[in-house]
Formats: sequence, structure tokens, C-alpha cells
Amino acid sequence: RVFCSSICALGAIQDLVVIKPITLPKKLTTALSMIPYVYLGSAILFAATGTGFIICRYDPFIGIFRLNGNAPYLYLGAAFLITGMFIARPYCRFFCPYGVLLGIMSRFAWKHLTITPSKCIDCRLCEVSCPFDYIDKPNVGLARESRKTGVRRLGFLLAAMPVLIILGGWIGHRMSVPMSRYNHWVYLAEQVVAEKVNPDLKETLETKTFRQMGTSEEELMAKAHRVRQQMNMGGWILGGFIGLVFSLKLIGISVSRTRTDYEVHKPTCFSCGRCCSYCPSDEMHLPNFVPGSLAYNEAMALRDPNAAAVEEPAPAKKEKEPAQV
Ligand code: SF4
Ligand code: SF4
Repeated sequence: RVFCSSICALGAIQDLVVIKPITLPKKLTTALSMIPYVYLGSAILFAATGTGFIICRYDPFIGIFRLNGNAPYLYLGAAFLITGMFIARPYCRFFCPYGVLLGIMSRFAWKHLTITPSKCIDCRLCEVSCPFDYIDKPNVGLARESRKTGVRRLGFLLAAMPVLIILGGWIGHRMSVPMSRYNHWVYLAEQVVAEKVNPDLKETLETKTFRQMGTSEEELMAKAHRVRQQMNMGGWILGGFIGLVFSLKLIGISVSRTRTDYEVHKPTCFSCGRCCSYCPSDEMHLPNFVPGSLAYNEAMALRDPNAAAVEEPAPAKKEKEPAQV
């Protein structure tokens, strides 16, 4: 995700305001992480049906960068920035549709950022250094459920997958009617019909312009009908896709691979590099680990708020070799 760490202006402006990041409950972040998939899927559906480009329209920071945004979008951008002081990069983590695509690619990245350039000595200094909580901790030696329980749950989740896909598709199908109203042809057709049914209704600017253009009503109704059909089909696909993602997320939570070292979570890590400066195995950051230095004290305080005054870092696994630098 080199784009997120080094190029994206939306990420940069949020990074600037991270002051006191808090850790959110895992269940909440997992639930919120569904939003970008819904956003991305809806954006594709709206673009494919000629309804609009919602990602550009609702970009919360574009008004700030252009210095001419509408007030609601400026407020939205400001709300994201204020939230971002305490919940680091909220738009990136819980809304950005590009992040979904970059995250998928990141899983297969040939080279990915690692916390340590050499060997993890399990000193735990990096453990809480990520303001986004994207560091996976080692899990060897922890109490784990029996294999039988895990296999049974996995079987249940796999069996539930088609149900979730169909349920999601059905919800998408039900949502297709309100979603289609965002399309200008459908919107116009409904206004024209409403004015015919109720002659007391005043002509709107849209219906007046339509009549002056000389396009036939049949043509308009045919266009609206086509969009509704596309939305209906798209709603089934979008809902099914969201059901599939939800199902895969549940499986991802329930299956954990063995980790012996501290690792970045590849799909979500922004490659910002903050955690790297907490690693004493990195020669470049060795000055950070001079006892008494500001960086050293901050790292120790992050690790344990009562340990800021401790003079020496205490590797958890002393039997391991120190890092090669
Ligand atoms: S997650 Fe999205 S908004 Fe954030 S840096 Fe990446 S591309 Fe930009
Ligand atoms: S590189 Fe940045 S986003 Fe990735 S784990 Fe480290 S601190 Fe977190």
C-alpha cells in the first residue's frame, strides 16, 4: 500500500492530525470494515447504471483541497479530521473504497513492509506503536481451542456462506428500488407520472425542461424501465457480493494461523513505517534505544505506562539471539 503511505492526499491530511489515537474494540472495527465494501460495490453499481460517481461526489476532503466545497462536504471533512485526532485515519480505515482494492493487492504483494529488517527479538516495543492497531501479535504458547471445535465452526460457517450470499442478494434486490431513484431518468419518469396522476402538482424545472426538449414519454419510460432492471440485477449482485465478503470475514476471524513474531497485518497496514522506528533490531533507529532518550521513554511508556522510568529494555525471550545490525 505504497499509495496510502506516500501518495494519497486523503491519507496524508488524516495522518497530520493523529494526536492521541485510541484503540477500538476488535468487534467494532471488524463490523466497520464492511463499510468500504458496501461503498465500493455501490459506487460500481451507480457508475455502471449511469446514475453517478458517488465516490467523487461524496469525497469528504475534496472541498478542503479545492477551497470551494459545499458547506455539508466541508463539515463532513472537518468531522473526519476531528475524529481522526483520536481514531487514526477514520476515512482510510472505515470508508475508503480504494483501500479495499489496495488491501486485496497487498495480500499478494511480492515485497511488503516488515517491522524489523532482520530478526524479531520479541521485545514487544512495537506492540502498541501502530495507531491503527494493524500489528498482529505472536500467538504461540497461548491457550487455543481444540482442533475439533475449530473444524466444526469452520464447517458451520462454510455451510452458512450460500445463505448469507442469498440473503445479501435479496436485501440488495429490495434496495434496488430506492437506489434507482438516484438515477436522473428514473427520477424524471416518476415526476412525470406523478404530475399526470395528480394534475394539482406544479410542474418542476426538470419536467418543464423535459417537455420543452420534445422527447416522448414512451422513450423516457423505456429508459427508466431499463435502469430499474439494471439496478435490480445489480442489487442482487451487490448484495450477494457483500454477503460473500461478510462470510469470508467471519471465516477469517475464526481461522488463525500460527505466528511466532510481531507482524504487520498485510491487507490493512498502510506501510506508514511508524512501527519500524520502535524496533531495536533496526540499526537506523538505534539512537531511539539509548536509555533516557525521549524516543526510548516514549516507546517504553507505550509498552507500559508505568514503565517510562525503566532504564533498560527487557526482551521477553532472552534465549533469542540479538539482532544482526
Ligand atoms: S486508504 Fe484510501 S484514502 Fe486512505 S491513503 Fe489509502 S487510498 Fe488514500
Ligand atoms: S507500518 Fe504503519 S500501519 Fe503498518 S503496522 Fe506499522 S504503524 Fe501500523
